Amino acid sequence: MSVLDAWQQRLDDARTDRQRQHRWRTRQALARDTLDFAGNDYLGLAHDPRVSEAQAEGARRFGAGAGASHLVSGHLDVHDALEEALASWTGRQRALLFSTGYMANIGVLQALADSHTAIFQDRLNHASLLDGATLSGARSRRYHHRNMNDLENLLKRSDSVHKLVISDGVFSMDGHIADIGALVTVSQRHNAWLMIDDAHGVGILGDEGSGCVGSTWRSDDVPVLVGTLGKALGTAGAFVAGDAALIDHLIQFSRSYIYTTAQPPAIANATLKALEIVQQEPEHRAHLNANIAYFRHEALHLGLSLSDSSTPIQPLILADESRTLRWAAQLREQGIHVGAIRPPTVPKGEARLRITLSARHQHEDIDRLLAALHDCQQQESL
Ligand SMILES: *Cc1c(COP(=O)(O)O)cnc(C)c1O
Repeated sequence: MSVLDAWQQRLDDARTDRQRQHRWRTRQALARDTLDFAGNDYLGLAHDPRVSEAQAEGARRFGAGAGASHLVSGHLDVHDALEEALASWTGRQRALLFSTGYMANIGVLQALADSHTAIFQDRLNHASLLDGATLSGARSRRYHHRNMNDLENLLKRSDSVHKLVISDGVFSMDGHIADIGALVTVSQRHNAWLMIDDAHGVGILGDEGSGCVGSTWRSDDVPVLVGTLGKALGTAGAFVAGDAALIDHLIQFSRSYIYTTAQPPAIANATLKALEIVQQEPEHRAHLNANIAYFRHEALHLGLSLSDSSTPIQPLILADESRTLRWAAQLREQGIHVGAIRPPTVPKGEARLRITLSARHQHEDIDRLLAALHDCQQQESL
């Protein structure tokens, strides 16, 4: 076999394997009139004209891109202003911007952990946290989802001096909120640092939308806080918030911070506007919460098996992968987009429709979704 054939064979095998498991992923350009129940624009800020205008104005003022990394010449006043605003919002000394949440998690773990570090993660943590731990070379253990006894047992058995417990704040595929208080207690009892990735909590939960950690837990309790800007804040990028010593350390040692072009300043300008709206206009959160309550009430009435979630993430567990694809396709025919989430993103046997709600949705939109879900149910019972 030639080298070329060998590579061809490898790609073909991987494809055949994935397709046989109904796990082949495809992208779909979203038609403009599609009702989107899959995205993470929970407050509608990605479509708020004030945020778009701040982005346009930022581009006119600072240019289309940063032109260099933060440590070279890409770091502008607008980045400083955003970092200060994020730090004050989350009650931390400092914050540091990253280009994406994925890069923030990789960068934090690589800068904090090495082969002498022991990392303990919830089994359902986001892929970027799992990848970050692997890349750091740390000794990694995963505890059962939100199971503090399991975590405690693993911590007890560790003789590492540097222990790091990591959890999503809001679990991205389940909508569950982590018990931060319990994580703080267990971590402190075993001299471990606690890192929370609140990608789906910031903007939604807590005082002024500062998340499930934000103003409630101080950096003594949760020393490492990660938030992302591409979800409820409607723009793009991420931040790490904590004490000055942590942030200084990341600026020195976090390779995914150092060796990449700075966040476009126009995005930073738009994010400042989005943050101002999140802090000053609680009505968007109120509308979102009313939508969540309405959807749950009606869906449970239809007998749909929703998971126990009070967040905008409302998964409908269908278990079987081909069934999940069938329902998603049927919804799409009716102009409704939901996420069809299959392993390896979720555990085997737990394929689901990931339905997300937003303050952009009106009651009529939710009624359309419910009617379409009801149609799927009816077809199955034929
Ligand atoms: C989306 C997400 C990320 C990645 O953030 P991006 O900015 O999209 O790269 C990280 N962690 C969690 C928990 C997420 O849900």
